[in-house]
Amino acid sequence: MIEIRDLHKSFGPLQVLKGVDLTVEHGKVLVIIGPSGSGKTTLLRCFNLLEQPDRGSLTLGDMKLEFTAGAKIPQRSVLALRQRTGMVFQSYNLFPHMTALGNVMEGQVTVQKRTKEEARKRAIELLTKVGLADKADAYPHQLSGGQQQRVAIARAMAVEPEVLLFDEPTSALDPELVGEVLKVIKQLAAEGMTMVIVTHEMKFAADVADQIILMDGGVILEQGRPEQVLEHTTHPRALQFLNRLS
Ligand code: ATP
Repeated sequence: MIEIRDLHKSFGPLQVLKGVDLTVEHGKVLVIIGPSGSGKTTLLRCFNLLEQPDRGSLTLGDMKLEFTAGAKIPQRSVLALRQRTGMVFQSYNLFPHMTALGNVMEGQVTVQKRTKEEARKRAIELLTKVGLADKADAYPHQLSGGQQQRVAIARAMAVEPEVLLFDEPTSALDPELVGEVLKVIKQLAAEGMTMVIVTHEMKFAADVADQIILMDGGVILEQGRPEQVLEHTTHPRALQFLNRLS
């Protein structure tokens, strides 16, 4: 389980997160939606301390981190947390000089200290799972955006994280490539992977989420099951955002 309590984050004078509380149960999918600039990506990046919050707390399983302005979280805690989370970025961020197989092996060898043989075996299993067994020897520039993103998902899975974090995983893709990536994410959800996903794809959000949070101006406006948030909200700002999309 992941718990976030009273999370605050500012960039200089700009208050981006103004007291966020949420819980993600083990094996569940939380989707974060909301207008541009509402703080979705910043919140997601706080989950693995790519951004360090100014105040509040984050609990992942048996690990609890408390944040206070000016007090740096020790590097070993940062690394420990990152080993337990996997992140998939909008722009894939694959290592360009490594093949698909190399990308999926890398963290297993350097972080988890697996032998190359073990890492290769697991990498092939994961590339097969995302439908790319035949592209194991291709370099990122030889792959489509959708294929690169599927390699990135396999890479994030390879270190067996407790939670997978997705930052707008399809927004850099041509429309015809979105489906193949969403299909892989849905498959992981069906297998019980705990996930937190920032997305603008509302239909996908409704399909895959156990819980949706709708953010605006650094706070959570609405939180609940997809139909509660997407169909039954009475919050004027939430309605304004959802109506703009339909
Ligand atoms: P989008 O849907 O457009 O990606 P978002 O809801 O994910 O938006 P964030 O990326 O979290 O929003 O940004 C929230 C606010 O924080 C924005 O005003 C953004 O300009 C600002 N911001 C984000 N990162 C930084 C940073 N590193 N330094 C300064 N300001 C930042």
